[in-house]
Amino acid sequence: MNKTDTWKKLKTKVQSCTSCPLHETRQNAVFGEGNEKAKILIIGEGPGAKEDELGRPFVGRAGKLLDQLLEEEGFSRKKNVFIANIVKCRPPKNRIPHKQEIKTCFPYLEKQIEYLNPDVIVLLGLTAYKSFTGEVVKMGETHGKWFDYKGRKMMTTYHPASVFRNPSFRKFIKEDFKKIVAMIEK
Ligand code: URA
Repeated sequence: MNKTDTWKKLKTKVQSCTSCPLHETRQNAVFGEGNEKAKILIIGEGPGAKEDELGRPFVGRAGKLLDQLLEEEGFSRKKNVFIANIVKCRPPKNRIPHKQEIKTCFPYLEKQIEYLNPDVIVLLGLTAYKSFTGEVVKMGETHGKWFDYKGRKMMTTYHPASVFRNPSFRKFIKEDFKKIVAMIEK
């Protein structure tokens, strides 16, 4: 089987997955979207209501802000990034995904990383950070710092949804995005 077939098969598997209880309440599993050849992979927490309805990542209010922040750096979701999530199905009432749900879904993300082979992985929010590192930290301490994940450059920044609660976080995301642009232009 060639690489494209493997990717298509993975997508179909995700869309029909029943491995954790989140499938019971979902409308659509959200595989992810963007440029499969992009150097940047952005990873959020999990689908919200709009994403669940449309089967696409970051298409609600937080997604519009993400698009805007990307555009301010001259990037678009179609061309320059691929966007995925830690869990592919919406947790009821947008609660934080449970540890077991993350554990069950994580191999899908690992396969996506392997296929996409990004230079840089950007984690949006502490749930994504904890899912990769197992560590509980404060965003103020970790955002904007590069670390290694299996030989890839990884950075965490504030989740765009947090900007609605605290508008001052916007400037931190902007600063972090600028570091990412500088890294891929190196
Ligand atoms: N928040 C996320 O973490 N992911 C989405 O896809 C949408 C909102």
